[in-house]
Amino acid sequence: MFPNQFDYHRPTTVAEAVGVLQQNPDAKVLAGGHSLLPAMKLRLAAPSALVDLSKVEGLTGISTNGSVVIGAMTTYAELRDSAALKAALPIVPETAYHVGDPQVQAVGTLGGSLAHADPSADFTAVALALDASVKAVGADGDRTIPAEELFVDLFTTSLAPDEVLTEIHIPAATGRTGMAYEKFRHPASGYAVVGVAAVVSVGVDGTVAQARIAVTGATSKATRATAAEQALVGKPLSADSIAAAAAVANQGLELNGDHYASAEYRAHLLGVYTRRALERAAASLG
Ligand SMILES: Cc1cc2nc3c(=O)[nH]c(=O)nc-3n(C[C@H](O)[C@H](O)[C@H](O)COP(=O)(O)OP(=O)(O)OC[C@H]3O[C@@H](n4cnc5c(N)ncnc54)[C@H](O)[C@@H]3O)c2cc1C
Repeated sequence: MFPNQFDYHRPTTVAEAVGVLQQNPDAKVLAGGHSLLPAMKLRLAAPSALVDLSKVEGLTGISTNGSVVIGAMTTYAELRDSAALKAALPIVPETAYHVGDPQVQAVGTLGGSLAHADPSADFTAVALALDASVKAVGADGDRTIPAEELFVDLFTTSLAPDEVLTEIHIPAATGRTGMAYEKFRHPASGYAVVGVAAVVSVGVDGTVAQARIAVTGATSKATRATAAEQALVGKPLSADSIAAAAAVANQGLELNGDHYASAEYRAHLLGVYTRRALERAAASLG
């Protein structure tokens, strides 16, 4: 299968990239290409031009000095192998290890994953659970978009067509915080049939001060499982409270059903994978 014809641009600065996007309203940013190029080959996407970010300076790298800042073009392999992230935010390398396969990890980017907003992507849920935000640069300057406001619907974000996502910001974990991501992989694609990211902080009194639990694969966009979060806050992080949270994980969520997994099956998986993510988050508490 061949894509439609398109122009190809390879800017070296973000400003130049934004300029090309402004002049070509149908243009698309090209990052790792692992979602965009298959979509173009299948003619599900037919941009008039591609704006390749691979030569734009300053879009890669990981800084863990205080809050964590990750360049949008940082690959999964770089996240997976980062010793600094393993120490500061272990859920990030752990999740990167479970995206696709080593080939996908070598080329796919964190910014591409968040900008694509695939409803089964892994990092959308992790970004929500970590309370991440992204920096987007457009013609009028830059703005910060919390992950909560970035994912609008299936493959739809609040990024404007001429905005480039340049950085991902994640607040530093404070106090005793445990985190884990668990997914039920689709056996063919590796995407999440259901994935659950859990980040839980325990206060000095031993009870849960904050819980952020986010799910992917189950609904039209990554979303917080607020009923499960509320079931934990103020309770000790024990087998009982984890079971109570897992039991209400699907409450308030409109679950997808498809030929592989019905909504009922996804509801069951959500309970199981919420429990597993919370158990591992509890075991990893500092
Ligand atoms: C075989 C295979 C298996 C996979 N398995 C998984 C999996 O298990 N879990 C998972 O989460 N994903 C999986 N993926 C998807 C993979 O993670 C993609 O890499 C990712 O979804 C998109 O990242 P990318 O860098 O390739 O972006 P691209 O494909 O280049 O771009 C995707 C979209 O985002 C836009 N975009 C990209 N970067 C930016 C930016 N900086 N600013 C603005 N817009 C931008 C593009 O215009 C495009 O619309 C798989 C892909 C393949 C091919």
